[in-house]
Amino acid sequence: MTISTLFQHTYPFVKPYRKLLIATLVLTAVGSLAAQVNALVLRYTVDEINALMLAEKTLKDGAQLLVFISIVLIVKELVYSVVQFGQKFYGEKLRIYISRDLSQAIVEKILSYRMAFYTSPENESGKLQTRIDLGISSLTRLVQNFFIDILPLFANSIVALVFMFNANFYVGLVGLGIVPIYFYISQLQAQKLSGFRRRMRTYRENKNNGIISLIESITVIKSFVREPLEAEKHKAIQFEMTENQMQTRKLSFIFDGIKGFIEQNGVVIVIILTAYFVLDGVMSIGSIMFHVLLFNNVSAPIRQLHRIYDEVNDALINSEGFFDIIEADQEKEPSGEYIPTRIGGAIVIKDVDFFYPNGTQALKKVNIEIQPDKITALVGLSGAGKSTLINLLDKFYEPSSGEILLDGVSLSAYNTAALRSKIGLVLQKNHIFTGTIAENIRYGKLGATQEDIEEAARKAHIHDQVVQLPKGYDSNANLLSGGQQQRIAIARLFLKDPAIIFLDEPTANLDAIATEQIKKSLEAIKKNRTVIIISHSISQIIDADTIIVMENGSVVEQGLHEDLYDQKGAYFRIFSAMANSLNIEKIAKTMN
Ligand code: ADP
Repeated sequence: MTISTLFQHTYPFVKPYRKLLIATLVLTAVGSLAAQVNALVLRYTVDEINALMLAEKTLKDGAQLLVFISIVLIVKELVYSVVQFGQKFYGEKLRIYISRDLSQAIVEKILSYRMAFYTSPENESGKLQTRIDLGISSLTRLVQNFFIDILPLFANSIVALVFMFNANFYVGLVGLGIVPIYFYISQLQAQKLSGFRRRMRTYRENKNNGIISLIESITVIKSFVREPLEAEKHKAIQFEMTENQMQTRKLSFIFDGIKGFIEQNGVVIVIILTAYFVLDGVMSIGSIMFHVLLFNNVSAPIRQLHRIYDEVNDALINSEGFFDIIEADQEKEPSGEYIPTRIGGAIVIKDVDFFYPNGTQALKKVNIEIQPDKITALVGLSGAGKSTLINLLDKFYEPSSGEILLDGVSLSAYNTAALRSKIGLVLQKNHIFTGTIAENIRYGKLGATQEDIEEAARKAHIHDQVVQLPKGYDSNANLLSGGQQQRIAIARLFLKDPAIIFLDEPTANLDAIATEQIKKSLEAIKKNRTVIIISHSISQIIDADTIIVMENGSVVEQGLHEDLYDQKGAYFRIFSAMANSLNIEKIAKTMN
C-alpha cells in the first residue's frame, strides 16, 4: 500500500465530516499566524529597548513599551488558546467519529462474508481480531496525528519560513535548507524500521492467537502437565519480540541524535549569519532572536517528521490487513435473484465435486436425490463428507463442479438469505447466546410474542422444565444442561418454521438420558418437513425413510435399512459395528 492508496481508502470515511475538516483547517491557519507573534514581539522589544539604552533613557521611558507588548502578548495568547481548543476539539471529534465508522463498517463487512473466509487459517479469530484492532487504532491515530498534531506544526513551519524569507533571503535559505535533509534522514529511518514493524505485527498476532488457544486448550494442557512446555513456547515468542523491540528503539534513538545534531547546526548558522548582517548594519540586533525563534518554528514540526513517517508507515502496514478485510468483495456471499414463495424440498445433487479452500477434496462425483417431506439419513465414518454435504446444501460453500437443485432450481440461483430462512440447522452443539431463554428462542423469529415462544417451547418439550426454573423464561440460558440447550435450539427452529431441516449429529454430545429426553422434540420437529439427518444413533438411522451411505467423499450405497443390510456392504459393516458396540447380547440378557 502506498500513501496515495492509503488516502484513497481512508477518504470515504473522512468524507462525511468535510465541514468538520474545513473548520479544523481554518483554525489551523489562524493558529499558525498567531504562533509567529512571539518572534515578532521579541524582535520589536529587543530593538526598542536597545534604542532606549543607546539614548540613555530610564525604565520610566520604557513603561509604555512594556504595557504595549504585554497587551499584545496577552491578546495573542487568548486568541491562540481559543483557536487551539477549537482545533484540538474538532480534530478529536473527527478522530472519534472516524474510529466509530471504521469499527462499524468492518463488523458489517465481515458478517456478509462467506463461510470459507472464517475457516481459512489466516483468519483465525485471534489473528482477525488483531488485524482489525491494529488497523482501526493506527488509522485513527493517523487521523489524530495528522489533524491535531502534525498539521498545525506544519502550517506553523510554512508561515515561519515565509517570515524568514521576508526578513532576509539567505536566512530563509538556511531555514529551507534543513527541510530536505530532514526529509531524507526521516525516510532513511522509516525504511530501516519498516522490516521491524512488519515483524512486530506478526509477533503480536501470534502472541494473541497463542494466548487464546492456550485458554481454549487449558484442560488438555493441565491434564498432560504441559504448563512448562506452553510457558516455554510463549517465552520464545516473547523473547524474539523483545529483541525486535530493542532493535527498533536503538535505531530510533540513533536517528534522533543525528537529527538533533543537524538542527543545532542550523541554529548556529542562523546566529552567525544574522550576527554578520547585524554587524554589517543591514539588520537590527533584535533580528538575532527573531530568526532563531523563526528557525525553531520551522524545525519543530520537521523534528516530528519521523513520527509522521512512523505513523504513516504503521498505518500503511496495519491498514493493509484492515483494508484487505474490509474490501475483500470476493469474500462476499454469493446470492442469486430467485426468491421462492414456497419450498417443496425436493433436492437433486448432480455430479458434485467439492474441494475446501485448503485443497482437501471432501466430495467426489456425488449424486443423490432427496424426496420432499421424507427423512433421509446420511451414514458414514467420520470424515466421509456428510457435514460437507450439509454445508453445500445450506450454501455455506458452492460445489467446485456439478450442480445442486432444489425444487428444480439451481441452488446458486436462489437468494441466499431467502433460502436460509427456509432451512433449519441443528448441530451437535447448538449455539446458545448470552442472554435469557426467551431471547434465545426468539432468535428464531424476531418479534415473536411470549405466547409464540412458549408455544415453540411446548413443541420442543422444554416448556415444563423452563417454567420450573426460579426465573422461568428469564433465566440465563447458558446455565441449562446440554440436552436442555439442544431443546432450546429446537424451540428456536419451531419459531423459524423451516421447510427443510438438517440435523448434524444432534445427540452426539448428549448422554443417554438427555438423548432420550430430546427424542420427542426431534420427532416433533421432523414432522411434515424434508429432513436430512447425520447420526451415529441406530434408532435415528433405522427411523429414516432413506439411508445414504458415504465413504471418502463418495456415495457408496443408498436405499432402505433392510435392503442395505442384506447387501452386506458398507452399510452392513457400519451398522454391525454400531450394534456390536452396544453389546446387544448382554443388554438383552440384562433386560430379560
Ligand atoms: P463428516 O461430516 O462425514 O465427518 P466432513 O464433511 O466434516 O466429514 O469432512 C470431510 C473431509 O473434509 C474431511 O477430510 C475433513 O478433514 C475435511 N474438512 C472438513 N471441514 C474442512 C474445512 N473447513 N477445511 C478443510 N477441510 C475440511
